[in-house]
Amino acid sequence: MTDLNRTHLSASKVYFIDFKANSKENIPDKFQRLMETAGILSTLSKNDLTAVKVHFGERGNVAFIRPPYIRRVIQTIKKTGALPFLTDANTLYAGARSNSVGHIRTAVENGFSFSSMDGTPIVIADGLRGKSENQVEINGKHCRHVHIGSEIVSADALVSVAHVKGHELSGFGGTLKNLGMGCASRKGKLDQHSNVSPRIKKKTCIGCGNCAEHCPGDAIALADKKASIDTALCIGCGECILRCPTGSVNIQWNQTIPVFLEKMMEYSKGVLQNKQGKAFFINFVTDISPACDCMSYNDRPIVRDIGILASMDPVAIDQAAVDMINAEAALPGTCLKKNILPGEDKFKGLYPEVNWELQLEYAESIGLGTRKYDLETMASLTWKKES
Ligand code: SF4
Ligand code: SF4
Repeated sequence: MTDLNRTHLSASKVYFIDFKANSKENIPDKFQRLMETAGILSTLSKNDLTAVKVHFGERGNVAFIRPPYIRRVIQTIKKTGALPFLTDANTLYAGARSNSVGHIRTAVENGFSFSSMDGTPIVIADGLRGKSENQVEINGKHCRHVHIGSEIVSADALVSVAHVKGHELSGFGGTLKNLGMGCASRKGKLDQHSNVSPRIKKKTCIGCGNCAEHCPGDAIALADKKASIDTALCIGCGECILRCPTGSVNIQWNQTIPVFLEKMMEYSKGVLQNKQGKAFFINFVTDISPACDCMSYNDRPIVRDIGILASMDPVAIDQAAVDMINAEAALPGTCLKKNILPGEDKFKGLYPEVNWELQLEYAESIGLGTRKYDLETMASLTWKKES
C-alpha cells in the first residue's frame, strides 16, 4: 500500500464520478458536470488554441478512451469560445502511428473523425515525421532541455485526457505519462528511453525468436538458438520483455528505470512550462489493462471500471487514480497473480521491480504538484420526489 508523507504541502482538489446514472443524468452529462466543477471553463479563454492531448488507440488495442467522451470534452471546451484541436505525438517505434499520415488514419479508424469530433481537427504534435519539436529549457537533474512536439508548445492551453493503466516500464501510466512521454517528439522519447536496454538470460532462452520478430528497432539477433540485443539499436520499448515465453528478457531495472521515470517527469515539466494556469487534467480509470496502450492488443482489465477523475493538479490526479485502483480487489482470470486483495499494490503485483511511486515523488519534488489530495466524489443527480 502507498505510504504517503504529504503533510508539507496543502492538498489539491481532485473530483471524481463513478458510473452510476439514471434518467435524470446520463454518463456524458455527468462527465461534463465533473469537468465544469473541476474548473475547465475558468482555465480557458475565448480563442485559446487548446491542445486536447489524447491517445487515439493502437490498431488491435481497444482500451483507449471511447470517442463520445472526447467529443464531450471538446463540446465543453467550446463553451468558453476556445478553439480545441486533438493531438498526440508520433511513436518512437515503427508502426501505424509513427508518422502523421498513419497516425491520423488510425485515429479515424478508431472513431476520431472531424465529423464525430464535432468539427475538430487532428493536429499531430510533432509533424509529419516526428521532427517538428521545440527545445524547452528546464535545467533538470537529467535534462537541461527537453524536446516537445511543437504544436503542443505553441498552443495557448492544454487539456490532457489520460487512460490509467499498468505499464511495463513505468509501473502505471496516467496523466504524467500522457504529458511527459506522450507530448515528447521522437527525439524526446528516445532521450527518455535511451538508458533502458534489456539483457537476455542465455541460460533460459530457447531461441524461439518471438522477441526478434516483434522488436521495433531490429535490435535482436539469433545465433546458435540464443537471442542477443544490440544496445545501439535498442529503443528501450520493452516489447521483448512481454513477448518472451520463458521470462528470459530482463531489464537492468535498478540502474535504468529510476532515471527513465525521472526524465519522464522532467519532460512533463517542460510540457507545462508555458501553460501556467492553462492546463487541465482528466484521468479515465476504466479498462485498466495491464500494459501500455501502444501495444497491439489489450489484455483483460485487472480491476473493475472505477470512474473518471478531473483536477488542476497532474500529480494529485495520478496519486488519486493509483490509490483507487490499489483499493480494489483484482478481477478473476487476469494476468495479475500477486497482490490481488483490496489494499494491495496492483502495479507492484504486475511489475515487481518497477518503483512506480518514483514518478509521483519526483514530480512533486520538481514542483509539478502535490501527492496530497482532497477527493470530492460527485453524487449522481436524482429526481426529487413530488410531495
Ligand atoms: S526493448 Fe527489446 S523489443 Fe524494444 S527495441 Fe529494445 S530489444 Fe527491441
Ligand atoms: S523470446 Fe525469449 S526465449 Fe524466445 S528467443 Fe527471445 S529471449 Fe529467447
